[in-house]
Amino acid sequence: MKDQNATVVTFLGTGTSTGVPVVACNCDVCASKDPRDKRLRTSVMVRHKGKTFIIDCGPDFRVQMLNNHVDDIDAILFTHSHRDHIAGLDDVRGFNYILNKRIAMYGQQNVLDFITTSFPYIFANKRYFGTPQVDLIPLDGNPVIIEKVKIVPIKVYHYKEIIFGYRFDDFTYITDASHIDDEEIEKVKGTRILVVNALRNSPHISHFSLQQAIELSKRIHPEQTYFVHMSHFIGKHAELEKNLPAGMHLAYDGLQITLA
Ligand SMILES: [Zn+2]
Ligand SMILES: [Zn+2]
Repeated sequence: MKDQNATVVTFLGTGTSTGVPVVACNCDVCASKDPRDKRLRTSVMVRHKGKTFIIDCGPDFRVQMLNNHVDDIDAILFTHSHRDHIAGLDDVRGFNYILNKRIAMYGQQNVLDFITTSFPYIFANKRYFGTPQVDLIPLDGNPVIIEKVKIVPIKVYHYKEIIFGYRFDDFTYITDASHIDDEEIEKVKGTRILVVNALRNSPHISHFSLQQAIELSKRIHPEQTYFVHMSHFIGKHAELEKNLPAGMHLAYDGLQITLA
């Protein structure tokens, strides 16, 4: 059923930390009837060489697993420790219970440390019955082999903090970046599909604007670029999509792309 050689990317969420619609907001975007304007917190699923990786595990993780009928995962990779990227971690329990296996989670040591202090009951010596069963495995920034898949961390700045994007052969995923050094951009060149964050139209201290994301895409020059981590300030999907340069798109929740 699954083509073992194809890389399949599923956008589980494409919204910024608030999600879209924003609670209590009645703006045009939040009131939109277009399902592409409804954005869960940013996360992606990458099926590569027969393995399933989830990047980030935000507060919508449970719904994202259900919406996309995800019945098994091999690992979760974290980009950074902000709440909208880790808050759903408790819901890996379903995989623990149903598949009877632990879930491996990878990220920078400081991210894993933050997870340990944020979810103390998971890592306590005396654990309550039924808490998540997870293994935390640190990444040092060098390329790694996980489940026989080579993954290259890409170091990007989220304001002053260095966080990770990830490259899998022809696919690169970067979220929450506001700056990327030239040598890290070199590591991304040659990728066929680029995902990068684009918060809104005006500049922001810790996230690329849409214009900055477009400029980054022009430097890297992939076949296709998809923007994620959008806020309601960016506008409506259908209107924005018409005006983007060739090969560039706003991602939306549930969008799936296949690289043969
Ligand atoms: Zn974020
Ligand atoms: Zn709004």
